[in-house]
Amino acid sequence: MNISKNAERKIQRKIKRCQVLIAKETKLQFSEVPTENVVICNAGLSTGLQQEVLLEEVLRHAHSLENVFFPPGKSYCYLRFESAEIARTVCERMNGVAPLGQDGCVLLMSYCISLPEKGNNTFGGRTPPGLILVPDFVNEKLESALQDLVDWEEDMEIGSNLKHRRVKHYGYEFLYGTNNVDRNKPLDRKIPSICESMWEKLRHMYPTLDWHVPDQLTVNYYEPGQGIPPHVDTHSVFKDPIISLSLGSDVIMDFRDVKGNHLNVDLPRRSLLIMTGESRYGWTHGITPRKMDTVRCNNSLTIRKRKIRVSFTFRKLQDGPCHCQFSSLCDTHQRDTEHRKDLLKENAAQVELENVHNVYNHIAKHFNKTRHSPWPRVEAFLKSLEPGCILLDVGCGNGKYLGLNSSIVNLGCDRSDGLLKVCTDRGFSVVQCDCLALPFRSASVDACISIAVIHHLATETRRMQAVAEMARVLRPGGRALVYVWAKNQEADEKKSSYLRQNKQNNKPRKGNKIEKDTTEMDGETILPIHTNRTQFQHQDLLVPWKLRNVECSEAGPKVTFLRYYHVFNEHELQEMCGKIGEILVEDSYYDQGNWCVVFKKIA
Ligand code: MN
Ligand code: ZN
Repeated sequence: MNISKNAERKIQRKIKRCQVLIAKETKLQFSEVPTENVVICNAGLSTGLQQEVLLEEVLRHAHSLENVFFPPGKSYCYLRFESAEIARTVCERMNGVAPLGQDGCVLLMSYCISLPEKGNNTFGGRTPPGLILVPDFVNEKLESALQDLVDWEEDMEIGSNLKHRRVKHYGYEFLYGTNNVDRNKPLDRKIPSICESMWEKLRHMYPTLDWHVPDQLTVNYYEPGQGIPPHVDTHSVFKDPIISLSLGSDVIMDFRDVKGNHLNVDLPRRSLLIMTGESRYGWTHGITPRKMDTVRCNNSLTIRKRKIRVSFTFRKLQDGPCHCQFSSLCDTHQRDTEHRKDLLKENAAQVELENVHNVYNHIAKHFNKTRHSPWPRVEAFLKSLEPGCILLDVGCGNGKYLGLNSSIVNLGCDRSDGLLKVCTDRGFSVVQCDCLALPFRSASVDACISIAVIHHLATETRRMQAVAEMARVLRPGGRALVYVWAKNQEADEKKSSYLRQNKQNNKPRKGNKIEKDTTEMDGETILPIHTNRTQFQHQDLLVPWKLRNVECSEAGPKVTFLRYYHVFNEHELQEMCGKIGEILVEDSYYDQGNWCVVFKKIA
């Protein structure tokens, strides 16, 4: 196609504008000369461009395509070709010509030096840990026999037709509202006996696989273009593994874990998918509603049309809680968490008294011996304060931050008699109080710090109240620094000093091994007890402090005290501070196992 010089200049200008925006977001380096990497600058997931539609057009001009990547929610996407030459051919034919942009706009394309790291889509190469895929598990004869078995017209009872696909249940009905089954109401329709030959085969092929003959079957009927949203089969309702047979059509199934990994797994027609372990509990699976899939074939990406696909998903009911490690996808974990939150709400003050204040009083001396070195960034905050400033350290502990800047007025407060005694012995000015009600006039101090304190408060309301009290006593324009323990002790990819102190953790890791959940429910307490120096499994928990009982003798038996903690998720602290009026979060960061914010009282 011939484009006039004027139109071409116009397109070049538009591309330049797009490049500026993309470079801001991605730090991508564009290239004037052809490279094998191409950015589509004005079309992507957010403009409604479908990968398959783009590929169909690209493959009309190129005999091969190495990779394609659509970043989520963005108005651009990437292509990688085998050579700069092929990329140039495609760009010459499509740039400023192909009407695949929003509302039929032409595509704007540009070369770049390299693609972002996440742009390395696998397309069927890798699978999640624990996933087994058995190709050709059933032959064509059994395939059609199974498909014929399902009488889709038989009963059109409520629930058999979902909005986006047809389903049918055997053994027990799967209830989509609760993602559960009613185990007291088995269906008359049992799993067809023809399936039994498959269990024989499975036993033979995988003699060591731990599985149970299923008692529940869901058959799904997918027209091309239909899919199933990402989900995890309810942990506490079905045993491991989940087994699923694909009939009638190949399809790409999308697996995603909580770390953001996304794998496209190609499920060929007549294959058996066995999801065990991590792939069953720690990854969601789903099928994107579309008519074509992108698949890798002979080192090139290509598109494959979907046909009518029928899946047979076999499951074995189980009764009782799940004990997996994948808390964010686990219904048992979530139910326990909700239950604990309710109990904490009712008993907050009691938990803080028993598992915070009383504990610190007992361990004060020992605690003092273990807390010498200040955190460098807290020290830097204190040293940045103007001479003559009044500083209030809320929850000052043994006073380790009260002597770092002698040009300011250092005041500390704490609830623990034991710790206050340590402070007065060291000559610091301290008062005893609860951080929920500070005995200071409003707008009376220039700066506040609260280091590792509010994670000892048992409800969000109380944690907010503590921050609101700091905000109240600050003068307008005054600043505060708050540190709380992070649930993720490796958020900056370095181990926090907390984890480093675990000798086990310093040993090299074995492969992809998942760490054992060492947190367990104690019969007597409402909270799980944490195993020291390991990653946190829960947000509200008790952390042991071991101490030789001084009241007995130096050689006496070790006594374990349990301290209550609420460990914070990423963003949780900022978001909480954001809900408090009169303050502005100026900075937030991760520092050696803590989430931290600096906020300012609005003038
Ligand atoms: Mn499923
Ligand atoms: Zn679970």
